[in-house]
Amino acid sequence: PQLAAREAELLASIPHQLLIGGRWTDADGQAAFDVRDPATGAVIATIADASPADGVHALDAAVAAQHAWAATAPRTRGEILRRTWELLQERTEEAALLMTLEMGKPLAEARGEVAYGGEFLRWFAEEAVRITGRFGTNPEGTGRMLVAQRPVGPCYFITPWNFPLAMATRKIAPALAAGCTAVIKPAELTPLTTLFLAGLLREAGLPDGVLNVVTTTQAGPVSDAILADPRLRKLSFTGSTPVGVKLLKSAADNVLRTSMELGGNAPFLVFEDADLDAAVDGAIAAKFRNIGQACTAANRFLVHESVADEFAQRLTARVTALRVGRGTESGVTIGPLIDGRAVAKVGALVDDAVAGGAELLTGGHVIDRPGTFFEPTVLTGVSVDSAIFRDEIFGPVVTIVPFSDEADAVTKANSTQYGLVSYAYTQDLRRGQRLIESLDTGMMGLNVGVVSNAAAPFGGVKHSGIGREGGAEGIHEYLETKYVLTPDP
Ligand code: ADP
Repeated sequence: PQLAAREAELLASIPHQLLIGGRWTDADGQAAFDVRDPATGAVIATIADASPADGVHALDAAVAAQHAWAATAPRTRGEILRRTWELLQERTEEAALLMTLEMGKPLAEARGEVAYGGEFLRWFAEEAVRITGRFGTNPEGTGRMLVAQRPVGPCYFITPWNFPLAMATRKIAPALAAGCTAVIKPAELTPLTTLFLAGLLREAGLPDGVLNVVTTTQAGPVSDAILADPRLRKLSFTGSTPVGVKLLKSAADNVLRTSMELGGNAPFLVFEDADLDAAVDGAIAAKFRNIGQACTAANRFLVHESVADEFAQRLTARVTALRVGRGTESGVTIGPLIDGRAVAKVGALVDDAVAGGAELLTGGHVIDRPGTFFEPTVLTGVSVDSAIFRDEIFGPVVTIVPFSDEADAVTKANSTQYGLVSYAYTQDLRRGQRLIESLDTGMMGLNVGVVSNAAAPFGGVKHSGIGREGGAEGIHEYLETKYVLTPDP
């Protein structure tokens, strides 16, 4: 398929090499790999494929830059982030189109991600100058206690493909604000947005080596080499729980600080007293944003048995009106899934649910066209024993499970190893307050379907992860506490 002229022009402007120590550099042996448009399967770029040795060179550069960056005035660090945010605003259309091309999300959503992902740059530009400590007299009155916050040191970031910009800025911005340097390894499926962002940071005046980018198809070996290096001090990962568990084990050998944003299995509770129109709006946002490929996506719709049919009907009417296509086409609300593996996985979960007695209200099949598309789907009467109730679907599939009362709803909602986000719709204030306390979750949307905000602490409990990104909390992931005692003067 032919690329539109502005698509080809944009792609030609994106760096195709590794960024190491401020220089765009070929990979070892000039190795390279292809990046594809999931809507067409066409190759849209060929970029450097880093080896483990390249990864260590990138870490060398981050280590070399660490001391000077930590000593750079917080205001200067903040202003570079702020300038990057401004540049990103000016280039919104480029950044959005790039994400649509490499990841597939509809352009309107990609623009939304530029706004959301950009906010981390602005927020942490502001936080850079608010890193404080404390000073006081010890209880005995014999000394003075000073508590300071220091940058953790060189960081390694591994990011996923579903939010190519926001997952990068959510790590880069707080780390740089705190005075840490970093190596980032974007997902091999969507590396171009990170390369674009790195270009903006350099244009905004980021010194050489403070941020280094390694794109690679060898995520495991490259990461192992970096994680084993004693100069590394911190790992921040966003991705699946199994990979996160593996990385935590590697991080343990090097006693690394870690931030882990892992999988989710979000319940979406609709009570008999809910505003059903609002619940349907929230469900569309919580399920179909990003084509269902978000760790915050509603995965299990738990609906009171008295309104389950009504909710299913109203939601199905909305789902059948969604428009599938390449994200660049106007009016498209559902793009492709990221790759063939994702399509196969979603298809298998749906087939298994149907075999287990679920009823298909709409969709349910792979779409026969180039690219990797799956029909927006609604399943009702899903058994709590089915794989689709347990596993993260990561696709445009609604699964509706009825519940009998609040206790049953909470038991079902909490019956998972995950605990990232929960959504609940009720107009009963006291019920809402009870749910805030009874749901095992790092985040909650009470009568709203999307909670993410750069000013809020994003993160999960249980197998959904460790640590928080964003908010006042986010910068502390990159700060170490130093305590100093001096004698009574
Ligand atoms: P997803 O299922 O969303 O693709 P993954 O956890 O597989 O989630 O991928 C998230 C990120 O983790 C990507 O950047 C990927 O390259 C990286 N990754 C996958 N496997 C490994 C590994 N063994 N070691 C380090 N990083 C990995």
